[in-house]
Amino acid sequence: PRPAPPPLLVAGHVLLTPPAVFVYADGFRDEPVDITLNLPAGWRAGSGMEQPEPGHFVAPHYDRLVDSPIEAGTFDLVSFEAGGMTIDFLIHGTWDEDEERLANDISAIVEASAGVFESASRSLPTDRYLFLLHSGPGLGGGTEYYNSTVVHTDPRSFWDDERWGGFLGLMAHEFFHTWNVKRFRPASIDRYDYQNVNYTELLWVAEGLTSYYDQLLPVRAGLMPVADYRKQLADTIGGVVDNPGYGQDTLARASYEAWTKGYHRGPDRAADKANRTISFYSQGGLVGLVLDLEIRRISRGQRSLDTVMSALYDDFPLGGGGFTYTDFRARVAAVGDAILAERLDGWVYGTEPLPIAQALENIGWSLDREDISEDPVQVSLGVSIRGNPPVVRAPRLNGAAWRAGVNAGDELLALDGVRIGSGLNTLLRRYDPEDTVELALFRDGHLKTLGVTLDPALADHEIIVYEDAAQSRSQMRRDWLGGMDEGDE
Ligand SMILES: [Zn+2]
Repeated sequence: PRPAPPPLLVAGHVLLTPPAVFVYADGFRDEPVDITLNLPAGWRAGSGMEQPEPGHFVAPHYDRLVDSPIEAGTFDLVSFEAGGMTIDFLIHGTWDEDEERLANDISAIVEASAGVFESASRSLPTDRYLFLLHSGPGLGGGTEYYNSTVVHTDPRSFWDDERWGGFLGLMAHEFFHTWNVKRFRPASIDRYDYQNVNYTELLWVAEGLTSYYDQLLPVRAGLMPVADYRKQLADTIGGVVDNPGYGQDTLARASYEAWTKGYHRGPDRAADKANRTISFYSQGGLVGLVLDLEIRRISRGQRSLDTVMSALYDDFPLGGGGFTYTDFRARVAAVGDAILAERLDGWVYGTEPLPIAQALENIGWSLDREDISEDPVQVSLGVSIRGNPPVVRAPRLNGAAWRAGVNAGDELLALDGVRIGSGLNTLLRRYDPEDTVELALFRDGHLKTLGVTLDPALADHEIIVYEDAAQSRSQMRRDWLGGMDEGDE
């Protein structure tokens, strides 16, 4: 979930975000709802709700109404069948009007998503689904709803292959939520409390596992080369384990504090947030990776995280009370084993490091760091800076500057007597790890000099394919990637 965007009304179209428009009234929650829009001539309207006639929407209750945004205007609409569902793709704004590519690629995403829940006994979550896309300069992000999503993109996505890949990942993310969050969700948010903050320790399942699948599904759908996924995964891993907050906070607490800290844009959104917090999206996603590859190893390829997700879908239909951590853990124990469930406790409620490299070994991939021995800069000062003269936004937790006592707000002047200005990186070329430099700075208008012992620069992660991996591991990798492998594309 994301905080609902405000309703949008501009010349040419309107987006009604129901929780921001239709007032909640206790006692009327379960009453059927009827909405009629007086549409200007030439306009039409779209929503996940039933629309018996143009502009007239019906919902069985308030919960469905607030879970069904309405777009009205003169949009484009592309409809197609995929994975047993009718998909309506509504576009407001600039796009390349390549209906065939859109239908092909979105169909592949829809089918790959449905494939995750193949072993579930319940049928598809919906027979009709609406993508509601706004395309405009600088736009991005999305929000999931009951049987629809509001997604935003910059129009460049339609003309740039790399951006198109990111766009498909976003579509996969929101569509996957149709199961994970919109058909089963944590107990404390199973039935939303519209009057209070809704706390849960399980957003690493709701958002994290969805993030895991939004990277994986485009590969399974045949839309992303395996080598590209390998690169993307290595970047995700680096973003998590090299984040200074890694190990400082638990996934359970980061989830619990989502509304008061994570999404909150108040004064607590300080520059040193990275030193204290973790992302239940990306780190939760890596818990998904480790669970998936460990379950595959334990079950010799017979079961996977897909099996766990299917069990959640079967066992916790919406409104039935939702699932707890104990419920999730029990399914990990049943599908994997008791040892894996026990390790999960440490990754969610503790700060145990994730055994990512070990998990990747299961499928014949090796996690490493890139060779940076030829890079011009071999050292790190461990500060994020802004402006010229540079002002410290935050020293990296336990980094070189941190250990020397550099503070946020310090104005950096000189390294060993040479003015820094906008040339910090160039100056750092002169040094080797463990060198001690004299850093001159202004703090509160007073000149200070600190001795800083430089750290080695941190190399990016990379994932390497073992050429001589056992056949069983390569086979497990191919199964995991939905039959795809390196060089198939
Ligand atoms: Zn999400």
